[in-house]
Amino acid sequence: MSFFIPKRAIFEPRALDYPMGKELYEKLKGMEVPITFTGSHNRVSGIPGKTPREAFREAKRTLVVGVRKGTDFAGCKPSAHYQLPLNTSCPSMCEYCYLATTLGKKPYLRVYVNLDDIFNQAENYIAQRAPEITWFEGAATSDPIPTEHLTGILYKTIEFFGRQELGRFRFVTKHDKVDSLLLCRHNGHTRFRFSLNAAAVIEKYEHITPPMADRVAAAGKVAHAGYPLGFIIAPVFYFADWRRQYEELIMALDAQLPAAARKDLTFELISHRFTKRAKNNILDLFPETTLPMEEEDRKYKYGQFGYGKYVYRPEVMAELKEFMKNKLFSVFPHAQIEYFV
Ligand code: SF4
Repeated sequence: MSFFIPKRAIFEPRALDYPMGKELYEKLKGMEVPITFTGSHNRVSGIPGKTPREAFREAKRTLVVGVRKGTDFAGCKPSAHYQLPLNTSCPSMCEYCYLATTLGKKPYLRVYVNLDDIFNQAENYIAQRAPEITWFEGAATSDPIPTEHLTGILYKTIEFFGRQELGRFRFVTKHDKVDSLLLCRHNGHTRFRFSLNAAAVIEKYEHITPPMADRVAAAGKVAHAGYPLGFIIAPVFYFADWRRQYEELIMALDAQLPAAARKDLTFELISHRFTKRAKNNILDLFPETTLPMEEEDRKYKYGQFGYGKYVYRPEVMAELKEFMKNKLFSVFPHAQIEYFV
């Protein structure tokens, strides 16, 4: 997969007061990306699209460059204490994107250029919880890798946390452009996670993302660079060939990960589920989808505020769990499976 180049960029004028904003402006101009301005990074107009599908696709190719106002960070329980607000959205189009219901009809990409303000606030939060460790999640509203070659935001963030005695950082990506991060002075304070799936699942449902083998190769590089490593396998599907497909994924990881990385490895597994709202969204944007979303095949699980979800039936869940846990522990006996829901 090639590097992401936006089709258009929209700047808040104030972003040019910051060195990163200026640099980004010059870089995009040099790439001949059309640039316009907006009063606020929250109210962006000028993204074309006559139908919801068109607007969605155009938004995914639009980069908004802004200044983050306000200081508070959102919570991020249970995986971290706070979300670290660095960027939003991503150019890929996974049919089951976990951000699909939160980013609205035009999920444009956004990056913030006032990193020092964001780091200062992170330091305040760290100080408030001292002497406990405070964790920050960098992918709660985005996949941060595709814009990294333009901004260097992750590089600076990883080095910032490398200097924090009591601050830790984690993020997750479905992308493979990790080379610029291999020489960061991370000091073991960033857990670099990859979101993976069986090769056939990625090919079918995760549009404009690198294939499984490329992500696993990227994870190998990150492991050699000494980062603590983690994997999210999600959503785990139950289909005709699932055992062989997921076994191939685990064997691909086995072939790439050096011995040192296996001592501190985390896995998070999420079985496929959907809500009525997510299903309608997916059918709007991907009318030809072959995602298995037949309510009658699932168990309905009541949720908060009436937002119930359709999950696999207990006997299917038990089969998925048993197979995946056995396989993972047979290959990575020291790994930690943080959850399998
Ligand atoms: Fe959503 Fe992640 Fe896919 Fe991007 S890569 S579309 S953030 S699931």
